[in-house]
Amino acid sequence: MDEEFAVDLDELHQAVDLMSRDFSNTEGLYLPIELPRFGIGSTAALNSLAPSILGRAARLGEATSFAHMDPPTPWITWAITLWNASLNQNLLHPATAPVARQMEQRVVAWLAPFFGMNGGHMTPGSSLANLTALWSARECAGVTQVIASDGAHLSIAKAAHILGLKYLSVPIDANGSLDAAQLPTDLSKSTLVLTAGATSTGAIDPFVLARRAAWTHVDAAWAGPLRLSKYAHLLAGIESADSVAVSAHKWLFQPKESALVLFKDTEKAHAAVSFGGAYLATPNVGVLGSHGASATALLATLLAWGREGVAQRIEHCMDLARCLRDFVATDERLELYAEPQTGIVVWRPKDENLFDQVLRQLPVGSTSTTSIAGGKWFRNVAANPNADIDLLIGTIQGVLQCS
Ligand SMILES: *Cc1c(COP(=O)(O)O)cnc(C)c1O
Repeated sequence: MDEEFAVDLDELHQAVDLMSRDFSNTEGLYLPIELPRFGIGSTAALNSLAPSILGRAARLGEATSFAHMDPPTPWITWAITLWNASLNQNLLHPATAPVARQMEQRVVAWLAPFFGMNGGHMTPGSSLANLTALWSARECAGVTQVIASDGAHLSIAKAAHILGLKYLSVPIDANGSLDAAQLPTDLSKSTLVLTAGATSTGAIDPFVLARRAAWTHVDAAWAGPLRLSKYAHLLAGIESADSVAVSAHKWLFQPKESALVLFKDTEKAHAAVSFGGAYLATPNVGVLGSHGASATALLATLLAWGREGVAQRIEHCMDLARCLRDFVATDERLELYAEPQTGIVVWRPKDENLFDQVLRQLPVGSTSTTSIAGGKWFRNVAANPNADIDLLIGTIQGVLQCS
């Protein structure tokens, strides 16, 4: 028996204990330049890496973290991820992942109805979910063109490029949503991509446009999980889509890589993107070959929290964004890009000379920047239920006072 492949609870416990140690003063990253000939052993390797990996990472759950779409993850997902790594199931083969495949089907079955879809599968992110959906659209609806707004995620243009489809980008309106007046009238050879929660602005495209094109795909990578909350109505009409992408590693608080591609007619959509190699007991559906059991972490989280537990956390995030919005809207030194729709607040100082100065003084990880129609803006994303919004507002006020 090679001990490196066996459970050593003492050493695993030590590795877990390292997670609660304070490595915040760690500087530099000391790694061998060349692949070492002899190893130092697993415990020594963990001890030598912990200060950098644990000490120098961005802390997505800390009070000032409010900049990006990356959420902190609940501890139940850490436990499941450990199980997953030890089992190394491959969902490509029913034989190596009998239970994990069932769990993926169940978690998809739980979530798809919130979007009016009847099934789908998991992917490692919405970039791949978008690619998969646009691939199905090309096969099922014979489209030759993809149309999305200027505010759409870059993965849409990338997918069109990979699939050899023309890509047409339509201007956004003053709120960041696709400007319906600018759409071509003939969409009979097109996939129309509508975004639910644009990456820069959080804007939602008009879902009344769904069904006008040969295929409608909704990229709900960011805002999709609102469907489980009291804000479900913000995405009303999403059920008219032919396919939907949702990232679970954003607003469902999952570790990367975790997302879903969902279809209205899953049987047809899956059949269009399936290949059966001789050694496969079931056809390989979609873009991925071997892939892991990220579904088990998502299922465990949903089992632990229930829909209400998910809703409560997302609604809390929406409240945090609302507080920041109210502060920006009432401070005359500041300007709001537009009313936040899905927990993303875009703003800036009215005096553009202050932009860089303010940015430099805000805590790292509290605020990101984005460029919209050539203008520079600050962007805050409510992905962290543990954010202390009064602290962030106080910091912004302090910085403005001194500027
Ligand atoms: C984040 C995002 C994506 C890409 O998703 P990944 O999970 O990062 O691959 C696609 N579309 C939108 C609107 C996003 O915000």
